[in-house]
Amino acid sequence: MKFLSTRNPGHAVTLGQAIAQGIAPDGGLYVPERFPDLDHAAWNADASLAEVGAQLLQPFAAQDALSPQIEAIAREAFNFDAPLVQLQGTPGPASVLELFHGPTAAFKDFGAQFLAASLQRIRHDAPRTLTILVATSGDTGGAVAAAFHGRPGFEVAVLYPKGLVSERQAQQLACWGGNIRTFTVQGTFDDCQRMVKEAFLDTQLLATHQLSSANSINVGRLLPQMVYYARTSVAIWNRERRKPNFIIPTGNLGNAVACVWARRSGLPIGDIVLATNANLAVTQFLHSGDWLPRRSVATLASAMDVGNPSNMERLRTLYPEMQQLRSQVTAYNVSDAQIRETIRRDEKELGQVWCPHTATAAHVYRQLAKQRAADHWVLVATAHPAKFNDIVEPLIGRAVAIPQTLAKLLQLPRQEQQLEPTLDDLRSKLQHHV
Ligand SMILES: *Cc1c(COP(=O)(O)O)cnc(C)c1O
Repeated sequence: MKFLSTRNPGHAVTLGQAIAQGIAPDGGLYVPERFPDLDHAAWNADASLAEVGAQLLQPFAAQDALSPQIEAIAREAFNFDAPLVQLQGTPGPASVLELFHGPTAAFKDFGAQFLAASLQRIRHDAPRTLTILVATSGDTGGAVAAAFHGRPGFEVAVLYPKGLVSERQAQQLACWGGNIRTFTVQGTFDDCQRMVKEAFLDTQLLATHQLSSANSINVGRLLPQMVYYARTSVAIWNRERRKPNFIIPTGNLGNAVACVWARRSGLPIGDIVLATNANLAVTQFLHSGDWLPRRSVATLASAMDVGNPSNMERLRTLYPEMQQLRSQVTAYNVSDAQIRETIRRDEKELGQVWCPHTATAAHVYRQLAKQRAADHWVLVATAHPAKFNDIVEPLIGRAVAIPQTLAKLLQLPRQEQQLEPTLDDLRSKLQHHV
């Protein structure tokens, strides 16, 4: 299987190369040249995520050195579950796909764990340490730190904007130590991102460090996300002979593209609905056909505050005609007021506590279920509400129980360094270990 650049289908690499490079040399994103036609009827009804992962991802690794190792990688990456929990008290059949049982309690753990397990094998005889730079507005940095923590041959530098992430997110970014270095930047997320971009072009830094990013556009983060859609849709299909619809809280479209790829690979998935916050790029594009990237707007669902979702390029490559694209996905905006109202109401009426991101999907579900209650809807829960207790608890008037994995991290001492929002300071701190 080859992976092609969205900007030049003549540029083709195998899976390991696509993962190692992250982004294609022409600035495009890697996409599979074709999708396998998976025969899920033959799948074991109660296969684990790791088993489904190995079967599903094997064809994508064909012709690459990773191919014989996919089973081991899947076992290592899918070492926590993604349970499907039936909702009670809804107008029709509805379930929650809980993607928050990993080490940092958000779905990004799946992608980060798979990427780390793959990169370690790709680089098994690399002579130099690889330094992974991550600018984060909250969730990505923790997931990447957790995935690479203690892996020989890797060092991670996490940059986050001081005072602009939740207390518990900050703790998850800074609790690691060892080969993880956490920098709290006197600036915004945009400053962090700019510094990382500048670092990749800095000859002084490149003389001492081999740099990489663990950006969400890496195909090694997207492919594993197909796996939970595969297992969930096949389980519902086997039980009900009905294709479930998925409602996905969406920012950069990584989770959504994985679902589209899963359906394209023959899995029994019905409608794919994108729940976005007050950032309008996706809905406006589907509505008008004009792609207008914009500045991001800050919302309660901060991990979805994306003004220029990079994975749209992958969707448009797959469905270049607007009519086609519109038949593949629909999208809705959800305001902060609606997020608040949904968190309050569903706690009372359904006994469910949502994180602000998942609440966008729950809001969209209420709208769609009015017309289509007979469908089986799956609400994708992207983070645990305890991670956003400062938003959620005042709305529901009680404390949210903390999952054990998160509680463990909250007890660790914080290890972080202050950083000026300049390349000079980043270079100097990376070069002079303290
Ligand atoms: C990153 C994130 C999202 C958005 O996912 P995309 O793949 O960028 O669309 C949604 N919810 C949470 C909790 C996240 O961390």
